[in-house]
Amino acid sequence: MENRVFDKVSVENLRRDLFYLCRDPLSFRTVSYTIPWHQKNSLEEADDFIAGEMRKYASCVELIPNKVQPFRCDSSKPLHHWYSAPLESDPWYDAHNIAVTLPGSEYPDEIIQLVSHKDSMSWINSPGAHDNAVGAVANMELVRVLSTLRLQRTVRVLFCNEEHSPWHSKTYANAASQRGDRIVAVMNQDSLCGKSDETSASGIKANVSAYSTPEGKALADFIVSEAARYEIPICATAVFKERVNDDDGSFIKAGYPDTVHNLGSLPYGDSQYHLAGDIPERVDLINLQLAVKLILASILDIDEQGASAFRNT
Ligand SMILES: [Zn+2]
Repeated sequence: MENRVFDKVSVENLRRDLFYLCRDPLSFRTVSYTIPWHQKNSLEEADDFIAGEMRKYASCVELIPNKVQPFRCDSSKPLHHWYSAPLESDPWYDAHNIAVTLPGSEYPDEIIQLVSHKDSMSWINSPGAHDNAVGAVANMELVRVLSTLRLQRTVRVLFCNEEHSPWHSKTYANAASQRGDRIVAVMNQDSLCGKSDETSASGIKANVSAYSTPEGKALADFIVSEAARYEIPICATAVFKERVNDDDGSFIKAGYPDTVHNLGSLPYGDSQYHLAGDIPERVDLINLQLAVKLILASILDIDEQGASAFRNT
């Protein structure tokens, strides 16, 4: 692979999309918040922005309808975990998964699946910059770069909702499994470059590839090795995540074990996790850009070699 392809990852695009989704015009991305005088709620407005951007680069952009409820807020719970399950009688809202497909030319049936949740917390007003506008804008930028290349395998991106109930990554992954989709690798970008205040102050650029299965460990170790192979200056590590959860967990439970979760630290160190202080100004955009380069390198080598790029033989 030509190293020049990494130069296409634009920190300006990442910054623009991040501030669009977290500051101006959209501070939040939730069915519980509508900008005064606007017709659509802020999650629908975020969907319009993401789908509109993606249609410039991909011919197949689907909006898959589903119903969600906002979580209830229970401030008696521990600080970072104030969400609590809605009641069945709470209001339901129309929401969407967004699925973007870049078809492969040689092996279109083999799918590299990228995932990121695009919504912000439905139980408090938080811009959700690290959780998870960063993952959404990373996947948007990956689509832009990948759309300029001739892919052998299919790359599919799911933008889903995970800060509302229920999680529709589950519905999506189960539907893929029922269709018999051949997904060779799943990478969930959720809270990229989210780090502790100490790590942020030290200037360390980091990416953790978290895995919960032996197959996921092989994929995580491969992502770590890509940093050295392409001399991407990021501290890349693979860390075991015991609980099969988050949107990557939805794919593992649907029968796709070759799955990782990319994030900035594990245990997750962001002091503003699930709080109103999770603002875009705190995002280390250079770290984000390096993480996107690392994921891009991994996608391109899997695209070239298939699952044998990372599977233990
Ligand atoms: Zn969250």
